[in-house]
Amino acid sequence: MSASIELKDIHWLIDMVQNIDVGLVVIDLNMNVQVWNGFMENHSGLLTAHVVDKKLNDLFTDIPEAWLQQKLDTIRVLKNKAFTTWEQRSYLFKFKSYRPITSNAEFMYQNVTFLPLTDITNKVTQVCLIIYDVTDVALNKQMALEANQQLEYLSHTDTLTQLNNQGFWRECCRTEYKRHTRTQQPASLIMLDIDHFKNINDTYGHPFGDEVIIGVANSIKENMRETDIAGRYGGEEFTLILVDTALEPAKLVAERIRKSIESLTFNHLGEQVKITASFGVAHITANIANDQSWIKAADLGLYIAKDSGRNNVAVSPH
Ligand code: GH3
Ligand code: MG
Ligand code: MG
Repeated sequence: MSASIELKDIHWLIDMVQNIDVGLVVIDLNMNVQVWNGFMENHSGLLTAHVVDKKLNDLFTDIPEAWLQQKLDTIRVLKNKAFTTWEQRSYLFKFKSYRPITSNAEFMYQNVTFLPLTDITNKVTQVCLIIYDVTDVALNKQMALEANQQLEYLSHTDTLTQLNNQGFWRECCRTEYKRHTRTQQPASLIMLDIDHFKNINDTYGHPFGDEVIIGVANSIKENMRETDIAGRYGGEEFTLILVDTALEPAKLVAERIRKSIESLTFNHLGEQVKITASFGVAHITANIANDQSWIKAADLGLYIAKDSGRNNVAVSPH
């Protein structure tokens, strides 16, 4: 501020402080409020007369006192500005968010600058808090983040069944195979395929076929553990990685899913439609050199199951 500013000019300076669209608060080193501008009055509903010489923490009990004290101590010693952003702390003052564009925010996100104010001997006696409303920025960033997560989910999810799609499932299979080579823990793979599914489509139509596919996917979900990784491998073909699972327990899981699918009843215009599926099971043996041959082995098991009459579980000879 220039020394040439005259007393009459203080008037418009105060006017600016009062009307500027950022919060201005001055506190002394005991956290007592000294200045409280119009922005603060409007958003807090507390008039200057109500807050002056009151402790900030008594007025806003959710401001962490120890944290604020530490900030003030640092500013006093270093005589430097300090900051806090909405990403570190969503807000310092809990204000409602009013603007229509930000109506889905419950409160105002804030960035805050702490400015040391010195007296004539260059000692910090007060600190000015400048509060910026950054609700729009925060919401836009959060929305972009959510959109990215949604995109990522969509890029590896099969829309009909919500299982992993083939591409992503194969990646998981590669990872699981690598993990096995490191840990030597057993791992098994189940591949299943709905029996005579073409007949279902031809007799009842494609949309009904889709319903059947969803039903089978649900049977798999209901009978797998959270750590197992299921995928829709093709049209009516599904795969399931059983982490840390040897051949015998994997056969039991396949059998459980087989029975579950066999027990499903689909309703087509009052007609009860039943289906079955065939299963191939392969665990990782010395013959399985990579994830590709692991999948091939499960596929061979599936071929054997189909060949020996369908609606059964067969183990890969590899
Ligand atoms: P098998 O017992 O030997 O498996 O006989 P299948 O009739 O099930 O075998 P096939 O592979 O000949 O037929 C699979 C059918 O699955 C053919 C295809 O039209 C159908 N299909 C593939 N994807 C979808 C889908 O997303 N929805 C529906 N409704 N049908 C699908
Ligand atoms: Mg089939
Ligand atoms: Mg098939």
